[in-house]
Amino acid sequence: MRILVVDDELGIREGCKRALTPHGFDVEVAENGPTGLHKLGEKSFDILLLDAMMPGMSGLEMLRQVRQLYPDLICIIITGYATVELAVQAMREGANDFVAKPFTPGLLLEVMNRELDHQRLKREVQRVKILEEEIRGLTRVKAEMEKLAAIESRFMLTMVHVLRAPVAVLQNSVQLIKKGYVPPEELPQVLERTDLRAGELLAILDDILLLSRLKEGLGSKPAEPVPLAEVLEAVRSSFQEEALGRQVTILTEVADCPVLLGNPDHFRLLWSQLLSNAIQYTPQGGRITLSLKTNSHERQVQGTVSDTGIGIATGEIPRIFEVFYRSDAAKSIKETGTGLGLPIIQQILSLYGGTIEIDSTPGEGSSFRFTLPQFTP
Ligand code: ADP
Repeated sequence: MRILVVDDELGIREGCKRALTPHGFDVEVAENGPTGLHKLGEKSFDILLLDAMMPGMSGLEMLRQVRQLYPDLICIIITGYATVELAVQAMREGANDFVAKPFTPGLLLEVMNRELDHQRLKREVQRVKILEEEIRGLTRVKAEMEKLAAIESRFMLTMVHVLRAPVAVLQNSVQLIKKGYVPPEELPQVLERTDLRAGELLAILDDILLLSRLKEGLGSKPAEPVPLAEVLEAVRSSFQEEALGRQVTILTEVADCPVLLGNPDHFRLLWSQLLSNAIQYTPQGGRITLSLKTNSHERQVQGTVSDTGIGIATGEIPRIFEVFYRSDAAKSIKETGTGLGLPIIQQILSLYGGTIEIDSTPGEGSSFRFTLPQFTP
C-alpha cells in the first residue's frame, strides 16, 4: 500500500512515516499541495493523508482537484482541534474520513484500515454487479440458443412429417402391386400416382437442399452483371407451354432493362418461383402479369408478379413464408407442393438486401412485389 502524506508540518510528515512504515506501508511525503499533486501524477497511491490547513494551496483546494483526477483514491483529512467544521466541509467535498491532531499512530491506522476495508467492499460489490450483468447476458444468450434449438427441432419434425407422407404412399403402392391386388387395367393409374409422389419427394428434397445452400450465403461464385429483363423473358418462355396448357395468359410489362450484380441463378429462381406459383394458383382463363421497372430515385429495381388466381386470406399472408406452410385453398387446387418456394424467395431477397410485399384478395388474385437495391454486392 502506498501512502502520500501532504502536510506543511515536518513533525506530522515524519511522524506518519515512522508510524506507518513498520506496518508495511510505503510512505511518501510532500510539504505542500502543488508538490503533492505532482507526486500523485508520477505514480499511483492508495491513500492520501491531507492536511486541511496549509499555506498557499489549502487542503480543501487540493482535495477538489484530487477528487476530479483520482476519484477512487482514499483521502483522509488531517485537521486541528479547532477545525472540525472544516473537516465536515472536507467530507462534503468527497474526503473519505478525517483524523484530528494530535492523533496516535493507533488511531491513524484504525481510520486507514477502516477505509481500506470499505474500499475493498465497494470493489467487491462492483465486481458482483459486473458478474450479475454478465450472468444476465449469458442467460439471454442461453434463451436465444434454446429458442433456435426449438426452431431447429420443429423444422426437423415438420420435415420428417412432410417427407413421410409421399414415402408412405410409395411403399403402399409398391406393396399393392407386389401382392397382386392391383387389377391390370388400374396399373397405369397406380403407377402414375406413384410417379407423382416420387416426383414430389424429389422436389421437396431438392428445395430443402437449395434453401440450406442459400442460407449459407452468396456462395463462392463471383458476382456478375445480370440483365433482369433478359432473365424475366427466359423464365416467361420456359413456362409458356405450361401456362398454355392451363389456359392462363402471361403478359409482361418491362419498363427498362436494369442490370444487377449477382448470381444469375438466384434471379432466375426468384422469377420462376413466383411465376410457377402464379400459374399453379390461377384457374383456367386467368391472367398473369410480370412487370419490371427501375425506381432511379430510390436506386431500386421493382419486380411484380400479379395474377387473377385464388388469392390469399389476410390472416394467412404472414404464414405463407413459413417453411412447409401450404394453405388449405392451395392444397385443394394443387395437391402436391413443397411449401418451400416462398422461403427460398425470401432467402434470396435477404442475400441481396431486398424486400417483398403482397397484396391479395381471396377469389380475385394476388400481387407479389419485390424490390432489390440497384447496386448490390
Ligand atoms: P407451395 O407453392 O409449394 O405450396 P410456396 O412456399 O411457394 O409453396 O407457397 C406457400 C403458400 O403460399 C402456398 O401454399 C399458397 O397457399 C400461397 N401462395 C403462394 N403463391 C400464391 C399465389 N400466387 N396465389 C395464391 N396463393 C399463393
